[in-house]
Amino acid sequence: MKKENNILKDSFGRTHSYLRLSLTELCNLRCTYCMPAEGIKLSPRSHIMNFDEIYTIARTFAEHGVTKIRLTGGEPLVRRDVDIILKQLATLPVELSMTTNAVVVDKFLDVLKDCNIKNLNVSLDSLQAEKFNTITRRNNFEKVYNNLLLLINEGFNVKINAVLIKDFNGDEIIDFINFTKKHDISVRFIEFMPFDGNKWDKSKMMSYAEVMEKVNSEFLPEQIIRLQDAKNDTTKNYKIDGYKGSFGIISSITNPFCDSCNRIRLTANGHIKNCLFSATESDLLTPLRAGKDITPIIKKTIQSKFKVRGGMDTLEKLESPELHGKNRSMIAIGG
Ligand code: SAM
Ligand code: SF4
Repeated sequence: MKKENNILKDSFGRTHSYLRLSLTELCNLRCTYCMPAEGIKLSPRSHIMNFDEIYTIARTFAEHGVTKIRLTGGEPLVRRDVDIILKQLATLPVELSMTTNAVVVDKFLDVLKDCNIKNLNVSLDSLQAEKFNTITRRNNFEKVYNNLLLLINEGFNVKINAVLIKDFNGDEIIDFINFTKKHDISVRFIEFMPFDGNKWDKSKMMSYAEVMEKVNSEFLPEQIIRLQDAKNDTTKNYKIDGYKGSFGIISSITNPFCDSCNRIRLTANGHIKNCLFSATESDLLTPLRAGKDITPIIKKTIQSKFKVRGGMDTLEKLESPELHGKNRSMIAIGG
């Protein structure tokens, strides 16, 4: 496939080779940090990309240098035609992966294997049933926990995503790290980020430094091994000596990793966002349906990318609801 990197290179020289593709705005959970209690205003069904449109847009990105596509949502596995989408995307020369809440993942093991999807990020914010059910506003802990073990046993490369919220699951950091003693997986602690309607407040967030404080008070310095991070990795990775798995921290708030950002996002209604924190987006679906070339729009959107966090380069700006409230809720972006 012909690759022309130029349209995916921004004005700061960053080349975008990683597409996070949201398949749906719907979800079978209701995580408090991701969506407002009252829900979100959903896009009309006719505005959601169909499977052919998803394939066409994804292929356009692959033709211009995207080598990795992560499927997300909402919950990607609640989409009825997800099998067809996965099979079509699997024909592209890209590494396919998925972020899922794992509630129904047991029903998709064969299709995931057939489509060579080995890397699965599973969201799990607590190892305690009651807490998990509280934060997700649903009672699916057993299902998710059992499916997590199933994925590990089936040989998938599993990463757990845990959003840390102070006075909620901050006391489980060591429990999560101890989970990596016997399981060869990575647990990633994510700093709680502000999006429209999620009642973010700096005091609820646990920072990278606070996580490391807990780690340092539990383990001896010689037990804590700093791992080499992969190129463009958003995670600072560690492991405990002798443990099978590892852990890491995604510190978008206190240590943004924008300098090496290679990500672009496509929402389920076919808009591209050049940054997770961007207040603006560009519609690709309407011009695609009108038979127009979408590459000039992609190029323009990439060119307009800010250097840091959609222009919110200071913590003060990020804290301002007038600024972060212009963005969508996370469930409608695709994390
Ligand atoms: N439903 C799937 C899941 O939960 O894994 C995929 C979509 S979800 C929006 C993708 C990731 O975004 C999840 O790992 C979730 O924990 C993370 N996320 C959602 N809201 C967040 C927030 N406010 N701060 C940090 N991470 C967030
Ligand atoms: Fe659904 Fe994932 Fe958002 Fe939770 S984090 S509400 S599982 S999309």
